[in-house]
Amino acid sequence: MNVRYLTRAAEILGDRELTVDLTIRPNDQHHAECRGCGDRHSVYLYTAVAREWAQAHAETCRAMPATDAV
Ligand SMILES: [Zn+2]
Repeated sequence: MNVRYLTRAAEILGDRELTVDLTIRPNDQHHAECRGCGDRHSVYLYTAVAREWAQAHAETCRAMPATDAV
């Protein structure tokens, strides 16, 4: 199961692609990855902990990929 959390940057910019993507894998490792800053987090077994991290990160992350970088 995949869940996406809109980041702060996404709200400000109206860019729905700036999300923290959480992949829930029952009885396995859950992975969260921020599309804004690239931050990653893995949690084994505890879905609630993984969700908490993803939500908390999304609420505070204002980062966006620097598309104008050379
Ligand atoms: Zn981030």
